[in-house]
Amino acid sequence: MILDVFKPVGRAVLDTLLPPSCLACDAPVDADGQFCLPCFRRVNFISSPFCAHCGVPLPFAEVASATGFCSACAASPPVFHEARSALRYDYMAKQLILPFKYADRTDAARGLAVLMARAGAKLLARADVLVPVPLHKTRLRARRYNQSALLAAELARMAGKRVVQDALARVKPTAVLGPLGVAARREALAGTIAARRNVAGLAVLLIDDVMTSGATADACAAALLAAGAGRVDVLTAARVPDPRLS
Ligand SMILES: [Zn+2]
Ligand SMILES: [Zn+2]
Repeated sequence: MILDVFKPVGRAVLDTLLPPSCLACDAPVDADGQFCLPCFRRVNFISSPFCAHCGVPLPFAEVASATGFCSACAASPPVFHEARSALRYDYMAKQLILPFKYADRTDAARGLAVLMARAGAKLLARADVLVPVPLHKTRLRARRYNQSALLAAELARMAGKRVVQDALARVKPTAVLGPLGVAARREALAGTIAARRNVAGLAVLLIDDVMTSGATADACAAALLAAGAGRVDVLTAARVPDPRLS
């Protein structure tokens, strides 16, 4: 069995020996971060038009409006500067992200980071440091790894940037935010995230796996800005589309 033979040499060497496979299935592809053709046809990459502030995909009618912002950003702009995401968080994106997040498929980080680097090239280029959205320590203990920290490490390596893994901490556990609306999510998150490192004057790129309402990213950005960050952008692997469009 080939994996047993190569186990002692470690994952990095294995990666160079095994051909890259599709992000969503085992079909061979040319390079990490690619889909095979059948999977590629089923993946929804986020492309223009999207909200200029939070990156949520927009219907054509809305982008024709004066601002280019989604209605949520127009009504109550997030404190982060710009957010971008690689994929719509639909069935295919869940096939990639849920095993990565909950089932120890940490090897998916590299491929997802390749997609994120493409979608967020502008944000990566102007970042001084990358900071992952933190997990509370009880959740981290249960899951054993922070999937956002793995994405941040891969992106930093690819882009030659510095990552500050412990710049933020969850100082209070957060209830599961699933069924809450935007205002209730913001309220539930108030005071739960704090900056732990000196980020004064730095352009920070916040990294997460999925952006839902943007309330978590906004709470992280508020903590970083309060600690003196010069700007905070956000890059995620996937974005929950506006519920009116799905
Ligand atoms: Zn495939
Ligand atoms: Zn928006």
